[in-house]
Amino acid sequence: MNKIADIYQQKPYSDTAQRMLLRKPQIFINNEWADSTGDDTLAVIDPSSGREITRIVEANSEDVNRAVAAARTAFDDGRWTGLPAIAREQMIHKLADLIEAHTDELAELEAIDNGKPIGMARAVDIPAAVNMFRYTAGWATKISGETIEPMSTPGGAFHSYVRREPAGVAGLIVPWNFPLIMVANKVAPALAAGCTLVLKPAEQTSLTALRFADLVAEAGFPPGVVNVITGNGHLAGDLLVKHPDVDKIGFTGSTEIGKLINRNATDTLKYVTLELGGKSPVIILPDVDVSEVSPGAAQAVFFNSGQICVAGSRLYAHRSIFDRVLEGIAETADFWAPRPSLDPEGHAGALVSKEQYERVRGYIEAGKKAGAAIAMGGDAPSADGYFVNPTVLVDVKPEMSVVREEIFGPVVVAQRFDDLDEVAKQANNSVYGLGASVWTKDLTAMHKLAAKIKAGTVWGNSHSLIDPALPFGGYKESGIGREQGRYGVESFTQLKSVIIKL
Ligand code: ADP
Repeated sequence: MNKIADIYQQKPYSDTAQRMLLRKPQIFINNEWADSTGDDTLAVIDPSSGREITRIVEANSEDVNRAVAAARTAFDDGRWTGLPAIAREQMIHKLADLIEAHTDELAELEAIDNGKPIGMARAVDIPAAVNMFRYTAGWATKISGETIEPMSTPGGAFHSYVRREPAGVAGLIVPWNFPLIMVANKVAPALAAGCTLVLKPAEQTSLTALRFADLVAEAGFPPGVVNVITGNGHLAGDLLVKHPDVDKIGFTGSTEIGKLINRNATDTLKYVTLELGGKSPVIILPDVDVSEVSPGAAQAVFFNSGQICVAGSRLYAHRSIFDRVLEGIAETADFWAPRPSLDPEGHAGALVSKEQYERVRGYIEAGKKAGAAIAMGGDAPSADGYFVNPTVLVDVKPEMSVVREEIFGPVVVAQRFDDLDEVAKQANNSVYGLGASVWTKDLTAMHKLAAKIKAGTVWGNSHSLIDPALPFGGYKESGIGREQGRYGVESFTQLKSVIIKL
């Protein structure tokens, strides 16, 4: 075997991970592992090797119905909402503690399943999931309604108040890019609000959600509060979206599927929160220290191999510093070079699937065909895994697909600008509006741009900081509603006015 191939060889799995992979494919209903009523399963592929490593249940309609029925009963009989709020808060904390205690195991499973570097999973993914549960747990004891006097009745004649009640049964459908973080972002607020739930992880990355289910039972949640089914989006996911006993859908994924879900949830008029795609601009003003900012711009797009909804995939650098910014990004090429996920030195891994690999490479080729030039990368190492080298495209035009569409890979299109109004217009010239970053020491320019940019989050001199305390979501076709913080928990509630004649 030659040296290059050695670098791209996946490392052996630990015994703990092997044990998980040897489990029988099952779904989690009422705190118990249950067989599917059918025989259909889906392959789990390690993206670093392209090899099938285990199989998971492909849930059928009966499986979905059983999971929803369990959540419905657990909601309606009050075994969850009837507990003291402090007991629910403590249980969510216990779950956070258990996730933290299993950090190494969960990080390895995430790396094997998703392709991301184990070091990143250990340092970022698992702690972020823990933090989300810890932050959100406290809302269980803080959510409350308010007293409002009617305006049309004589004073004191009526007593009226507004109750904030849980939405009911939540169907939670999550993507593959940060599997356990996405589970936490949906499950934690649903639980804090008092909902029961059915979780469907992405078919490409279900392993940590399944291991998470064990921890739910261990933490002592009543049966049926958290149920986990695996399977395809267009089958199991679709059934959840249309199910009359599901009251709320929390979804993160592509804009295309988000639109479909929104349409499909209409017949039963569910509450829907959608966190969708992006094409986030990174705007670098002329006053910056280029050597400090270039690695930040590289990280904005190459972290998680660009498979992040807020990836800074459109770079706008002021004309006077454009070339130097690109040189600075090129210097990070080795740091972001992809490696198999269990390589402890890796900073970037494999893309999640063959489909995603081909999609990203297809975009690079489409960009070249349309006249874009490659300033860095553009190629893929010869290996069995789905590796694509970090790529910078220049000489791009606004109408090119690489500039307009979400690539979800380690690919950035770099453009020059001359003044702030012009760059704000360019930044907003997108159907998306999820994130944006502005890099400058000029506070006035920073605040002016922050106000002008149509995006759910604008970062200054940083990118991708997503914090449980701050609302997160999109303008335009990047989503509906906000997750995280008070707003995220409230999105799993509904209001009831109680008006009593005294
Ligand atoms: P990506 O483009 O990131 O793969 P998708 O939007 O296709 O993301 O999928 C995100 C999640 O949505 C996954 O859990 C997937 O199974 C689910 N999903 C896909 N299609 C549907 C659908 N028609 N209805 C409900 N869920 C779906």
